[in-house]
Amino acid sequence: MTTQHSLYSQLPATDRLLRDPRLLPVVEKFGHVRTVEALRLLQAEARDAIRQQQALPQWDWFLEVEKRLAADTPPGLRPVFNLTGTVLHTNLGRALLAEEAVAAVTQAMRQPVTLEYDLDGAGRGHRDRPLAELLCQLTGAEDACIVNNNAAAVLLMLAATAAQKEVVVSRGELVEIGGAFRIPDVMLQAGCSLREVGSTNRTHAKDYRAAINENTALLMKVHTSNYAIEGFTHAVDEAELAQMGREMNVPVVADLGSGSLVDLSQFGLPKEPMPQELIAAGVSLVSFSGDKLLGGPQAGIIVGKRELIAKLQQHPLKRALRADKMTLAALEATLRLYLHPEKLTERLPTLRLLSRDAASLHQLGETLLAQVAPHYSDFEVRVEPCLSQPGSGSLPVERLPGAALTFTPRDGRGSQLEALASRWRALPVPVIGRIKNGRLWLDLRCLEDQTLFLEMLLK
Ligand SMILES: *Cc1c(COP(=O)(O)O)cnc(C)c1O
Repeated sequence: MTTQHSLYSQLPATDRLLRDPRLLPVVEKFGHVRTVEALRLLQAEARDAIRQQQALPQWDWFLEVEKRLAADTPPGLRPVFNLTGTVLHTNLGRALLAEEAVAAVTQAMRQPVTLEYDLDGAGRGHRDRPLAELLCQLTGAEDACIVNNNAAAVLLMLAATAAQKEVVVSRGELVEIGGAFRIPDVMLQAGCSLREVGSTNRTHAKDYRAAINENTALLMKVHTSNYAIEGFTHAVDEAELAQMGREMNVPVVADLGSGSLVDLSQFGLPKEPMPQELIAAGVSLVSFSGDKLLGGPQAGIIVGKRELIAKLQQHPLKRALRADKMTLAALEATLRLYLHPEKLTERLPTLRLLSRDAASLHQLGETLLAQVAPHYSDFEVRVEPCLSQPGSGSLPVERLPGAALTFTPRDGRGSQLEALASRWRALPVPVIGRIKNGRLWLDLRCLEDQTLFLEMLLK
C-alpha cells in the first residue's frame, strides 16, 4: 500500500507539466485544450499501471503526449511525390495547375470579384458568362455552361434536355467511369429512359435510325475513355451521328471525358477527339472534364448550341451543380493559356509532364542514381525504361516511354519492397511509387522538384 502511495505521489501534476517549457511546442502545435485532455488520459493510464503492476509507466511524458496527439490527428491533405507513372492520378488530385491559375484562385479567395457582376452594367447575367465567351472562342461553340465535374455535366445535359424521354446510346458505350458513375445509372437519375442499340462490339447507323421514334430526345455518344474495344468492331462516329440527327431532327450530345483542346499528336501522343472538332461536325452539346487533359481545376464543361445551353442554365439542377468562384477563376486562367498554344508545354504542367521525352528522363535518372544508390545497399538500384500513362481514363491504351529508378531487393524477398514502399509513404513528403515485377519503380516523369526528392530519399 505504502509503495503505491509513494508511486501515486510521483505522478507529475497537470499544472506542472503545462508550465514546463518542453510542453510549449506541443501546446503550440495541438492547442491547449487537446493537450490538457491528452495529459489527463495519460495520468489515468499511469494510475491504472500503478494499481495493476505497482509500477510507474516508463514513458517520457513530453514525448508520449506528443506521440499520442500526433497519432490521434488525421493527416488531412498532404503533398506527395507522384512517381506512380500515372500523370493524371485521380487519387492524387489529377491535374497540377499552372501558376497563372494558382494566382487567379488566390486573388479570388482574397478579394471581392465580379462573379455575377457586370462592370459595364449591361446585365449579361450569370456566372458562366465570361468563361463561356472564352470557350466559344476556343471551340467554335455558341455558348457554354460550367458545373463541378464532368459527371455533373452529363447529369445536367440529360436532365435538362431529355427527362421523361428516350436517349439512344450504343451498347458499346454504356461505360462505367469509376466510383458509381455508370451511364445507365446516370440516365435513371436524370429521369431518362435508356434506349440501347447495337451490340457490345458493333453498332451501325441503321441501329440508331431504327431506334428513333416520337419519344426520342437525344442521340448520345460516350467516349470509351478508360477501355478500348478492339478486333471485329464498328462504331458510328460523331460526325455521322450528327448528320443523322439533323435529318431526323434529334439533337446529338457527346460525353467526351477528357476532351483535349489541343492536338496531342504534336507531342507524340495519340490524338484524342477534340471538343472543337465535334462542334464543327454539328454535335449539339459536348461535355468534358476540367482536370483531365485540359490541365485545369475539377470542373465539367459543356459547350454547344445556344438554345440547349439556355435549357441547362435554367434547370434547377444547375444551381445545385454550379462551380464556385475559385474553380471559375482557375478555369479561366487555364483556358487563357490556350490562347497562346506555343507556350502551352512550358506553362501548363499537365502538357509539360506528358511531353517530357524519354532521353531527358533517362538522363535525370542517371544523375539521381549516383546519389541515391549508395544509401540503399540492400537494393540493386537501376535506371530502367518504363511506360507511363496519362491516366484518369484519358488515352486508354497508349503508353508514354520514359525512365524510372528501380529498387530490387538483393535478397529477392518481396517483403523488403513492401517495407521500403511503406517507409517512403511515412516521409514528411511521401514518395509514392509502384511495385511491379519484383521491384519498386519510381517513374520520373512527374518529378520536378529534384532537391526535395533527394532530401526525402536520402533521409
Ligand atoms: C472521366 C469521365 C467522366 C467523369 O468526369 P469527372 O470530371 O471525373 O466527373 C465522365 N465521362 C467520361 C467519358 C469520362 O472519361
